[in-house]
Amino acid sequence: MNKDNLNYFYEPKSIALIGASVKELSIGNIIIKNLVHYGFTGPIYPINPKVDEIRGIKAYPSIMDVPGEVELAHIVIPPPFVPEEVENCGKKGVKAIIINTAGFKEMGAEGQALEDDFLARAKKYGIRIIGPNCQGTINSDPKFNAYCNFTFTFYKPGSISIVAQSGGVGALIMQVLHDMEIGLRLYSSNGNGSDVSISEILKYYGDDEGTKVIILYLESLSNTKEFMEVAMEVAAKKPILAISAGRTEKGAAASKSHTGGLAGGVTMELIFQKAGILSFSNLEEICHAAIAFSSQPIPNGSNVGMITNTGGPAIIATDELVSCGMAMPPISEKAKAELKQTMLEQASINNPLDVVATAGAAHFKSAIEVMMNEEQIDGIYLTFVTPPFVDCVSVAKEIAEISKKQIKPIVCNYITDKQNWGETSKILADGGIPCFDYPETAAKALSSLSKYNEIRSRKKGSIKTFTDINKGKAKAVFDSVKAQGKEVLTAKDVYEILEAYKIPIAKWSIAKTVDEAVIEAEKIGFPLVIKADSKKIIHKSDVGGVAINIKNAEEVRTVVQNMQNKLQQPDLKFFIQEFLPESRELIIGVKEEEGLGHLIMFGMGGVMVEVYKDVVFKIAPTTDVEANEMLENIKSAALLNDFRGKKGIDKGKVSEILQRISTLVNDFPEIKELDLNPIFANENRVCAVDARIIM
Ligand code: ADP
Ligand code: MG
Repeated sequence: MNKDNLNYFYEPKSIALIGASVKELSIGNIIIKNLVHYGFTGPIYPINPKVDEIRGIKAYPSIMDVPGEVELAHIVIPPPFVPEEVENCGKKGVKAIIINTAGFKEMGAEGQALEDDFLARAKKYGIRIIGPNCQGTINSDPKFNAYCNFTFTFYKPGSISIVAQSGGVGALIMQVLHDMEIGLRLYSSNGNGSDVSISEILKYYGDDEGTKVIILYLESLSNTKEFMEVAMEVAAKKPILAISAGRTEKGAAASKSHTGGLAGGVTMELIFQKAGILSFSNLEEICHAAIAFSSQPIPNGSNVGMITNTGGPAIIATDELVSCGMAMPPISEKAKAELKQTMLEQASINNPLDVVATAGAAHFKSAIEVMMNEEQIDGIYLTFVTPPFVDCVSVAKEIAEISKKQIKPIVCNYITDKQNWGETSKILADGGIPCFDYPETAAKALSSLSKYNEIRSRKKGSIKTFTDINKGKAKAVFDSVKAQGKEVLTAKDVYEILEAYKIPIAKWSIAKTVDEAVIEAEKIGFPLVIKADSKKIIHKSDVGGVAINIKNAEEVRTVVQNMQNKLQQPDLKFFIQEFLPESRELIIGVKEEEGLGHLIMFGMGGVMVEVYKDVVFKIAPTTDVEANEMLENIKSAALLNDFRGKKGIDKGKVSEILQRISTLVNDFPEIKELDLNPIFANENRVCAVDARIIM
C-alpha cells in the first residue's frame, strides 16, 4: 500500500469501532449513530466483547473476529489499551486508524510513551493514524457518506473542505455553513497530529477534485517548512482561507533587540502571506468568504458594479467595499444608453445602479447583464430587498440564471422575511448565490474574492545575488566572536560585518581613552557623535550614552570624561561617528524564527520605534518585489515620499539594504537578532548609524 495515501480515512469501504458501546451518551455509540444516520455505504463492525449487537448492528469481541476486511478503524478505548489494539489492527490488515481517545502526549511523559508505542506499531504495519485526541474525518460524497466523527453537525454535500486543529472551531465552522444551507465536502480534525499532519491533509484536499475551497484553522505548526511547501503548492491550485489563533501572543518578551521585541505573534500571518494563503482574523468572516468562494468565480480585479433596489443598504455597502480596497468605477456611455432603454424611468443609471423598488425580473436581468458586460467591472454586488408588490420569484430566477454562467462573481445582500419568501430564498440558494443579511458582510465576502485574486496574481520577484560581498571577511569576524563565546557583538564587530556586506554606515572609529577619542575625532572631522560601547549597554541613549553634534576637541574631552564617570563599565569604549543631518529615521531588523529561518523587519525607526510600532515583517529570503512591498506597506509609507518641502528618500537604496541583510542572514544563519536602528535616509544618502547583532 502507498503509505502516504490518506484515502482510507475519507473513502473507507468498511469501518470498525474498537470500544463500541451500548451507552447512548458515549463516543463509542455516537460514531455508529452518525455512520448509520448518514448512510455509510459499507459495513460497520462494532467491537465489544460483552454485547452481541449495538444499534442493531452485530458486534464482535475483537477486531480479529471480524469476518470481512476492515479498512478504517476508530479506537475509543482508554489510552493504556490503545497500543495493543493498534497491533491487532495491524495483524488484521487495517489500513488507517482514527484514535479519538484523549490522554496521550497532551498529558505528559506517560502519555507520550503510549503515543510513541502505538506509533511504532502502526509504522510496522504501514498503518496511518489520525489523532489521538481528535474528532476524526467526514466525507460527504454520497458514494461514501463517511461520517467518521462524533460531532453533531448535519451536513449536505458541497465543495467546502475544512481542516481544523481544534475540533471545537471545526464544529463551529461546520455549523455556520450548515445553518446557511451551504454544503460541506471533507472535514478533518487531527488532534495531537501524532502521525497524519495538517500539511498532509491539506495536500489531500488539494488533490481532491470535489474540494473547491479549503478552510484551515491552525494553532501551531510542527513542521513549518513542510507546511510552506505544501501550502504553496495547494494555494496555487485552489483558494486556502486560513485563520490562526494566538495572534496576540508575546513572542519575545526577553528579547535584546527592537526587532525581537516587535516580532511577537506575527509569524503565522507571514507564513500564510508567503504561501499565498488568504488570511482572516475573524471566524465569521472566514465562513462567509468560504461561501462566496464555494460558488462564485474569482474576479480579475477589484472593481465592483453595484445593483440595488433600495438606497440605504447600498450606501453602507459602498463604504464597506471602499474600506476593503474595492473601487466602483463609472459605467460606460454605451451601458448608460442601453440601460436608459431597459430601466424604469425613476431608475438612477450609474454605479451604483438603482433599479428602484418596483423593478421586476426584466429590469434585474438587463441590469446584471449590462454590468457583467462592462469590461472595467470585475464583480457584481447586489442589494435585493423583496418588495411585496414585485414578483420576486421571477427576479430570483433571473439572478440565478445569469449567475450560472459563472462569468463574474455575484454576491448579494438579501433583505427579506425568509419564512414568507421561502420560494424566492430557495431559488437563490439553489442557484448558489451567496446571500447575506448584512451589507457589510456581503461586501467583505466579495472583497475576499478579489483579495485572493491579488494574492494569486502577485509577482514573487527574485532573490538578488550580490557579487561585491566579502563573505570571508564577515566569516572571520563571526569565527572570532564564536571563539570568544560572545552573545552580543561589539560595535566594531558589527560594523566590520556590515562593511563586508556593503551595507552603508556612517564613517566611524573606536577609542578607549580621552586622548584616543580626540585623535580619532580629528580624523573623522567635526561635527560628530560619540556613543558609549559596552556589552552591558543595550539602548545607549537611555543611559546617556549618546552625545550628538559635538563641534570640537574640547567637547570630545568633556563628553568622554562624563560618560566614563557616569557609566562605569569595565569594557567601556567610545564609538566616534560622523554627525548626519536630520533625515527620516528608519529601522531594518532580523529575528530568527525556529523551524522557519529568519524574519526581516522594516519600519519607521529611531528611539521611538516601540511607541509607533510602525513596522512590517517578511520571511527571509527577501526578493526585490518583497523588499519594495515592505516600503509600501508601513502605515507611514507617505513619509518616505516628498513631504512638506522635504524630498522623498532614495527607496532603491533602502530596498537594497533589505536584500543585503537578507543575504547576510542566509549566509550566517547563526545570527539570532539584528537591528539597524536608526538608518538615516534622505534623497541622496541612506546609511545606518546604529547597529546590533546578537548570536
Ligand atoms: P541607541 O539606539 O543605543 O539609544 P543610537 O545610536 O541609535 O543609540 O542613537 C540614538 C539616536 O541618536 C538616534 O535615533 C538618532 O536620532 C541620534 N543619532 C545617533 N547617531 C547619529 C548620527 N551619527 N548623526 C545624527 N544623529 C544620530
Ligand atoms: Mg539605536
